[in-house]
Amino acid sequence: MLPMPNHPGFSKELRKLKGVGPQMEKSLNKKGFKTVGDLFSFMPNRYHDRRSITPLGSLEAEVETLMLGEVESMTTKRARRTGRSFFEITISDDTGSVKIYWFRLPAFLRKSFKIGETLLIFGKVEDYHNRLFVPHPEINKWPGGADHLPPPEIRPVYPVVDGIKAGALRRVMAQLCSDLQAVPDIFPKAWLKENDLTDPVSALRVLHQPPADADGLLPLPRKSRAWKSLAISEFLFIQLALARSRARLGASVGLSFSDESALANDFLSSQLFELTESQKAVLGEIKADMARPHPMNRLLQGDVGSGKTVVALTLAMGVVDAGLQVAFMAPTEILARQHFKTFQAYAEKADIKTDLVTGSANDAEKAEMREKLASGETRVVFGTHALFSASMEFKNLGLVIIDEQHRFGVNQRLALKSKAERPDVLVMSATPIPRSLAMTLYGDLDISTIKGLPPGRQPIKTRLFGPNERKQAYKYLVQEIDQGGQAFIVAPRIEPDNEGEPGSDLSSVIELFKVVSNEILPNTAVGMAHGRMDSSELELAIKDFESGKTRVLVATTVIEVGLDIPDATMIVVEGAERFGLAQLHQLRGRVGRSDKPGKCILISNQPEPEQNQRLNILTETSDGFVLAEEDLKTRGPGDATGLRQSGLPPFTWAQLPEDLPLLIQARDLAKEIIEQDPELADASFRLVRDVVDRVDDQIRGEVSDVG
Ligand code: ADP
Ligand code: MG
Repeated sequence: MLPMPNHPGFSKELRKLKGVGPQMEKSLNKKGFKTVGDLFSFMPNRYHDRRSITPLGSLEAEVETLMLGEVESMTTKRARRTGRSFFEITISDDTGSVKIYWFRLPAFLRKSFKIGETLLIFGKVEDYHNRLFVPHPEINKWPGGADHLPPPEIRPVYPVVDGIKAGALRRVMAQLCSDLQAVPDIFPKAWLKENDLTDPVSALRVLHQPPADADGLLPLPRKSRAWKSLAISEFLFIQLALARSRARLGASVGLSFSDESALANDFLSSQLFELTESQKAVLGEIKADMARPHPMNRLLQGDVGSGKTVVALTLAMGVVDAGLQVAFMAPTEILARQHFKTFQAYAEKADIKTDLVTGSANDAEKAEMREKLASGETRVVFGTHALFSASMEFKNLGLVIIDEQHRFGVNQRLALKSKAERPDVLVMSATPIPRSLAMTLYGDLDISTIKGLPPGRQPIKTRLFGPNERKQAYKYLVQEIDQGGQAFIVAPRIEPDNEGEPGSDLSSVIELFKVVSNEILPNTAVGMAHGRMDSSELELAIKDFESGKTRVLVATTVIEVGLDIPDATMIVVEGAERFGLAQLHQLRGRVGRSDKPGKCILISNQPEPEQNQRLNILTETSDGFVLAEEDLKTRGPGDATGLRQSGLPPFTWAQLPEDLPLLIQARDLAKEIIEQDPELADASFRLVRDVVDRVDDQIRGEVSDVG
């Protein structure tokens, strides 16, 4: 919903509106409308054009028409084919006549019509065997007679609200608009004029009550200029909030790191591989940013398996070299632990004190970790969001790295920033984000992108199986294991469905584990991993799979992000239709992480899985960015990658990707405004600032639990 300035008219309760009783208020509340301001953004679907009366001699088929005529005759008839009875009135004016009819009209209404009286009729004219009829019109007695015409009107048609009659709802909306006459525009007049925009408050009014004196065709609300202005405003407020926060950061004093570090070089030469050109380029870009004496706020993106971690750790070494601390945050304990361990090998040699902070540590352990962080003894700390709980203090935090940032959401990202004394912040995401969303979500970030994958990676072969092809699918699994491969099997849930036979619910990890270890691979060591195991069990399960002790790991999506087990060669996903595209791409990214070829088997419970476009496209491309655009197209931004978890308010007027041009326009406008007036301090922007402050609060939100 579009945020509105704090105006007393908006915050009024609905029952304060004339015509709204307790019943109606309840119905409106149920729809999510609590205040007058909420209801103001309840949009008509379309309009009834009642601007002029059409003479009965010039009616056109298929047109919604307002007519005025005298009752000439009326009769009840029976339809020839169906035998249903209907009530028919012939009305006429000086130019012609037309028949109107209803199949069901209460008797008292039927009896109320009189020959010779004048009726005002609104309905769609239809052609039936070359004769025009008006079925089921809206009808009013017209006391004014044929000479006295009704005033022109454009009547909004609102979506149905259960328990409220259309007419009553329309009257309430009209009342509300007249009550809100005094609400001022948000943007200054001159600015609106200069940019050829309608203010969102005026635009809302226009959408409820289009001026009836305008002529020409009436657009659908969604296609109108006013709607477009609302869509831009929706983007604009977010872009202003992000641009302002970026400007604030850019203006503030931050740390400056040398782009030369012996320790960083040493770390790189300890790796078994050489960085790709793209990794090198990105590393240079980020180092240059970190050398600037302002806080860095940057997104490092790259497809699953592109090698972001090594880049981030190299940067971390530069910070450690400068004598400061690094915090590396991951969305799950598994992932935090993995990063910690990967780094540990080097850290021990180089004598860099590292630590791992997770939610599952006991109080004494936590106290010790805290102590070491506060004293500065710990130089690099890995952890989940527990890292940034209120009690954690750093001696001199220089860099915050946030891995798989899409799992945290914008609000957490911003909340973290405020925690420490302006360290540099690098967030990483393997979930490719379409440009349009990247701009909405990360308008306050600079972006570096690792292109391509390290050399030698072979494309992951992806195959889709339907419910009747399970046998075949699992045959491939058995083959893979026989040939020395290792496989993940992912299921959507932990516990089985209560219904059904025991052992039959393959969407449950627990059941699937039994089936795989008893029936499919009885002679193979099979492990299990899910979020309800305690963390030491979970750790052991992952460790056993990593070392090859177990050849198969049956798991939930706890393994979804980041997990790096290069020896794994196959992933089987049960109930693939239940996962989102981005999620499946992430899951698939668990294999093909070395020079061994990876295979992905998607098992869907839909009988014709290739009809599912989402699943089908996975078999066609492994390019995360192509998939992300597709995701946005097929599911809309509400569901697509990241946006739902982002904490951003859902859009009411704007629609992506169609409105991408408006988003770009909004971003440019925001940039221009903030460049001239970074704090929106100008008096004429007071209301704008009001709204932007509220959007800012909304984006920052509260830090909620993740993982
Ligand atoms: P992601 O970008 O998904 O986080 P990782 O950082 O986990 O990917 O890297 C995936 C795998 O690729 C790791 O095993 C890592 O050691 C390896 N890797 C990273 N960079 C290179 C490179 N330049 N050449 C070869 N392997 C690399
Ligand atoms: Mg990663």
